[in-house]
Amino acid sequence: MTTTPALAVPSAGAPFASTTIERRDLRPDDVSIDIAYAGICHSDIHTVREEWGGAQFPLTPGHEIAGTVAAVGEAVTGFAVGDRVGVGCMVNSCGECAQCHAGHENFCERKTVWTYGDTDVDGSVTQGGYSRNIVVNERFVLLVPDSIGLDVAAPLLCAGITVYTPLKRWGAAPGAKVAVVGMGGLGHMAVKIAAALGAEVTVLSQGLSKQEDGRRFGASDYRATSDASTFSDLRRTFDLVLSTVSADLDLGAYLSMVKPFGAFVTVGLPPNPQPLPFFAITGGDKVVAGSNIGGIALTQEMLDFCAEHDLAAEIETIGADRVDEAYDRVVKSDVRYRFVIDTSTIGA
Ligand code: NAP
Ligand code: ZN
Repeated sequence: MTTTPALAVPSAGAPFASTTIERRDLRPDDVSIDIAYAGICHSDIHTVREEWGGAQFPLTPGHEIAGTVAAVGEAVTGFAVGDRVGVGCMVNSCGECAQCHAGHENFCERKTVWTYGDTDVDGSVTQGGYSRNIVVNERFVLLVPDSIGLDVAAPLLCAGITVYTPLKRWGAAPGAKVAVVGMGGLGHMAVKIAAALGAEVTVLSQGLSKQEDGRRFGASDYRATSDASTFSDLRRTFDLVLSTVSADLDLGAYLSMVKPFGAFVTVGLPPNPQPLPFFAITGGDKVVAGSNIGGIALTQEMLDFCAEHDLAAEIETIGADRVDEAYDRVVKSDVRYRFVIDTSTIGA
């Protein structure tokens, strides 16, 4: 075991404190990564505040990890010391089941091991990227293209892949009209990626304060959901409505903007169940679906797509002492558009 400086919360909702955590000795197929940046995902907040249920403490969150390879195990073939790499939401799966074989490690039939707060197959509890170093099986390490800075790449490892997956699956392409609901960390990447895929993109935000940014990211329209006329003006307009909202949502109202045979897809995971009025889906044969991150091969495809289209996250870089404040600002939708921790400030 080695120890590495980290930020951890001792109990649900408590502030972050500097500490050290243990990383395992390198196994033959492990990669040791010196973390440079870790993004703050709203899922980190839901988790440490136990909004999704019980968590294991002390907890070091962080599943948007970018850094440099520090060492590799003797059987590692895909990575070398010095490579620029990333790690996202998962760090292990069986690698043998039908889902793993199909590239859906995120739905492993035995167990997907999440990057933090999860029990790995060896019984250890995983700890995430708000730290200086992490040791990960090479199957879960991604190559960050040279043209993308590590700071603006970090959020791609969760926010990027989480929106890329449903945009590809549900047909964001030339000729398709896509609405992105909520323009935070996931939402701003959804606007950029959907536009780069050739779709016509509308942002549905609570207000108009981020309109200029939305258009700069590639949206051709930007509407306030606080204005009731948005819902009547845009009735039956979209092939796909992609929700990134972290709070309660009036599903019926958003479904009214979906075209017949179109889809409402959520990646947002509000803590409460959301009532679905069935009349809103039978009228127009509409689909309501969900999407959960994406497999490793697709994550590499997304990173390469972002490099090809010159896309990356818009970030505000913070030091370790500002993480609590950043959490409160994310909850207030006061983030433009992802907080990224400079991990060199942890334990410094
Ligand atoms: P975020 O940066 O906080 O963005 C969420 C956006 O939702 C906000 O910027 C805001 O957009 C909108 N919003 C917030 N409160 C709202 C309210 N009361 N009513 C209407 N809109 C509201 O969060 P994020 O990191 O992008 O994550 C978004 C959600 O996705 C979270 O629930 C997170 O846990 C989940 N998530 C899911 C996956 C997955 O695989 N499915 C992966 C990562 C994250 P406007 O200011 O534009 O209105
Ligand atoms: Zn996330």
